[in-house]
Amino acid sequence: MTRFRQIHSAQPFETVAQTSSTILLVEDSAAMALMLKSRIESETAGEVEWCKTYAEAERALTQGRPGLALTGMNLPDAPDGEIIDLLEEEGVPTILFTATLNRKVRERASAPHIVDYFIKDAKDTIDHIIRTIQRITEAAVASILVVDDSASARATLNEILRLQNYRIYEATCGLEALEVLAAHGDIQLVITDFHMPDMDGQELTRRIRASYAPERIRIIGISASSDPYLSAALLKAGASDFVYRPYIAEEVRCRIAGNIETLHQMRRLQSLAERDFLTGMYNRRAFFEQAQAQLAHLREKHDSASIAILDVDHFKKFNDTYGHDVGDKVLQAVAKTAHKVLAQHKCLSARLGGEEFVILLTGMSNDDAVTVCEEVRKAIAEVVLPHNEARLQVTASLGVAVVQFAEGLDNNLNAADQMLYMAKEQGRNRVCADAVFYRAA
Ligand code: GH3
Ligand code: MG
Ligand code: MG
Repeated sequence: MTRFRQIHSAQPFETVAQTSSTILLVEDSAAMALMLKSRIESETAGEVEWCKTYAEAERALTQGRPGLALTGMNLPDAPDGEIIDLLEEEGVPTILFTATLNRKVRERASAPHIVDYFIKDAKDTIDHIIRTIQRITEAAVASILVVDDSASARATLNEILRLQNYRIYEATCGLEALEVLAAHGDIQLVITDFHMPDMDGQELTRRIRASYAPERIRIIGISASSDPYLSAALLKAGASDFVYRPYIAEEVRCRIAGNIETLHQMRRLQSLAERDFLTGMYNRRAFFEQAQAQLAHLREKHDSASIAILDVDHFKKFNDTYGHDVGDKVLQAVAKTAHKVLAQHKCLSARLGGEEFVILLTGMSNDDAVTVCEEVRKAIAEVVLPHNEARLQVTASLGVAVVQFAEGLDNNLNAADQMLYMAKEQGRNRVCADAVFYRAA
């Protein structure tokens, strides 16, 4: 029985998304305040309550706790950042904007209730503020696992992370961390202590890396040790980053945000590399990679598989009659329809190029594979695309081959192509399969 848990309230600062949608804006300049109010209210779900002075903010806070505060440092009646202390006492997550950035300001900005801070006159500051509000008032942005045997160390990190609207999981040792990871596929980042009773952070990192690639999960190590070799050891084992204790919240925030951003970039790149731009389906290269892996696995298990090629009938006439744009729409509709049917049968599919698609049918008999292809054909024939006055209809032909494991993927595709040729010859809008011949033989 594992003891991991997802953290809920019982923390001084609740996740912003869970609390009131009122945003307390404390700013003495009317021009700045009105501009912020108008942008926040049109671009986020928050409603702004504007206070010009410390006294007004104090009064507003007695009326109820806002979900978030956005404040400058210095106010006419509170010139020394007293508003920050007030918001901390009231437990209000706070975004700070400041005209100057010196050490004193940065110290104030690492108080636990500060979500983030921005320089007032810098380019894009307002955009950044809006994006931050959107991020922390929407559903959780990413899931993070905190691994530390010390409860107080976990609590400190929690406080920082919760304000950024991350979903947080905790583990008290390495083994528990691995269990939590296995149970929660949404975790994108692990923050691990170095010294733990069952295994150290380096060992944990190594074990995580054995199952999860760096583009799937990022790892940040944390330690109070003064040994400078620790960080190198962790990075070498596969961690992405390292933080020495004592840390300031600002550093941890930046490192986490940086790692999550890197992860998102990697995923975007991966998706661009493996997806077809027009239909969003896998491209030829991604199909070959995945199909080859699946077939190797099936071959070991002495399972059967089928492969099919789908080609849109007389596709050229859509281009010639209605233009290339309409041709593209037809291709998108065909892809979407085929994918919908195939997803139900957990079949791998891809756009091979032009108006040709490929399907790998596994986990079913060769006869059932032909039935699934017939289902795809029917679904496509039922598609109606309204275009001006016209209602366009489209059909496709499919060739299906029983996969010969002794042959390469290319040869198996050729076999499916021959069946496709036969389907076209016989009048199109039909499925031809070589399974028939195998049965007859
Ligand atoms: P058949 O029934 O024999 O398959 O005839 P067909 O017209 O479908 O086949 P053909 O191979 O003669 O024509 C395919 C056309 O598809 C030619 C090519 O210009 C067009 N095409 C290829 N890729 C795209 C694309 O991405 N978008 C659009 N709109 N057309 C494309
Ligand atoms: Mg065609
Ligand atoms: Mg073709």
